[in-house]
Amino acid sequence: MTMQPKASHYINGRFVDDEQGQPLEVIYPATGEMIARLHAATPNIVELAVEAARAAQDQWARMRPADRGRILRRAADLLRERNDEIARIETMDTGKPMQETTVADPASAAEALEFFGGVVAGYHGEFIDFGGPFAYTRREPLGVCVGIGAWNYPIQGAAWKSAPALAMGNAMVFKPSENTPLTALALAEIYTEAGLPDGLFNVVQGFGQVGAALASHPVVAKVSLTGSVPTGKKVLSLAGSHMKHATMELGGKSPLVIFDDADLENAIGGAMLANFYSTGQICSNGTRVFVQNGIYDRFLDRLTERTKKIVIGDPLDPDTQMGPLINAAQHEKVTGYIDIGKAEGATLHHGGGVPHLQGFEGGFFVEPTIFTGVTDDMRIAREEIFGPVMSVLTFAEESEVIDRANDTEFGLSAGVFTRDLTRAHRVIAEIKAGSCWINHYNLAPAELPFGGFKQSGVGRENSLAALSHYSQLKSVYVETGDVESPY
Ligand code: NDP
Repeated sequence: MTMQPKASHYINGRFVDDEQGQPLEVIYPATGEMIARLHAATPNIVELAVEAARAAQDQWARMRPADRGRILRRAADLLRERNDEIARIETMDTGKPMQETTVADPASAAEALEFFGGVVAGYHGEFIDFGGPFAYTRREPLGVCVGIGAWNYPIQGAAWKSAPALAMGNAMVFKPSENTPLTALALAEIYTEAGLPDGLFNVVQGFGQVGAALASHPVVAKVSLTGSVPTGKKVLSLAGSHMKHATMELGGKSPLVIFDDADLENAIGGAMLANFYSTGQICSNGTRVFVQNGIYDRFLDRLTERTKKIVIGDPLDPDTQMGPLINAAQHEKVTGYIDIGKAEGATLHHGGGVPHLQGFEGGFFVEPTIFTGVTDDMRIAREEIFGPVMSVLTFAEESEVIDRANDTEFGLSAGVFTRDLTRAHRVIAEIKAGSCWINHYNLAPAELPFGGFKQSGVGRENSLAALSHYSQLKSVYVETGDVESPY
């Protein structure tokens, strides 16, 4: 199977390559076979992309927002028309099952393009009345923005960053994760087909150093990264040292709190979504599942029953519910954490092994795993694993669980399951996290801000908040009388 794109990069409305660039092999995570061979961007490619973006941005910013939005909405329609074709590329690139990619990945990208394409025409500055004189504010674009993506949601990440950037009149240079370079190229082609002028959305491939070159480029006004906390710290300090705007969507170790009165099946469904979707490779996952003592036994029994039924295997088979991890390094990391959990004294309640799947011996599979007897100080309860490893903890009291939920350096997400809505709102208000759910988990609609507190990030994606992060505010004072001057 091959998924070789026309070339490695997409600059100024066309595919380009520079074979001097470091080879970048794309692996199908289910088999380990190479499906494409690209090249990382050379400094020349980075310059071409930034220059194309700079040259195109001014004219684009002068267009009526409604006209810019129409192009984005056309691109959303094209994404939907090609949903299954793009989902298949995403599956080959990430290993995520078609069952997920056909409903979640291009669909979420299209939703972002549609939302920002529609809402931007109504996103205005303010009018401030001084009783005669007045002032108004303008939301102006920043210029050339850089997006750097993670490997778990490649086309979604490219769209979540480019849609608000372009809607506001910016240009973007996007660097996908080296692991998943393919669908950002498909998005770039779709933008062109939808009528986006050349140079406004460019894709350059590469490893961390290409991201760093973009984040420190003097022409670049803003950097938006999705990635781990250590990378976020590096990129934020690079951006800061050049006084660039920055949005950081980083990792987490989020709490999911299940009270005795919760609807059992819904709470279990939520906990499974919060740990096993995308083989656990989701930043907002609720990997610390706090279960109140009274419901614990019933919760664990049904959770185990339902987890045993998860179909793991060939991602292209429509019945498959869980695919492999992204690569060998991540596989080693996740299985390493399973060993750490056992060594720390947690009980390996379910899974923990590496399944042997005929025809997929070279794939990076791991079983959905549940640890019980987990305590707050264990590494599996403190560090982001980024794999399908759920830690179940128990609690007695509301105030106790709030303190324990907040005892983390991260603050991306949190969830609460209870039928007592007063308590639900009270508890969520106390939890220090940016993206929270009551009686559900991991939904991220385009209308809702998404992002983290504490080490989990800076800024927000989606919603009107993203438009504010891709623009700068100009204040204009207007005098309607004479200038009173002491001179
Ligand atoms: P990494 O932090 O390893 O990489 C993220 C991106 O940054 C990649 O494109 C990477 O390139 C690039 N990069 C690496 N080093 C540098 C550098 N010094 N300067 C600029 N760019 C650099 O994250 P992963 O791709 O491994 O993704 C997993 C992480 O992402 C998890 O921690 C997860 O929680 C987080 N994440 C956060 C989300 C959120 O919205 N909050 C959503 C999804 C994931 P390359 O891959 O080529 O090294």
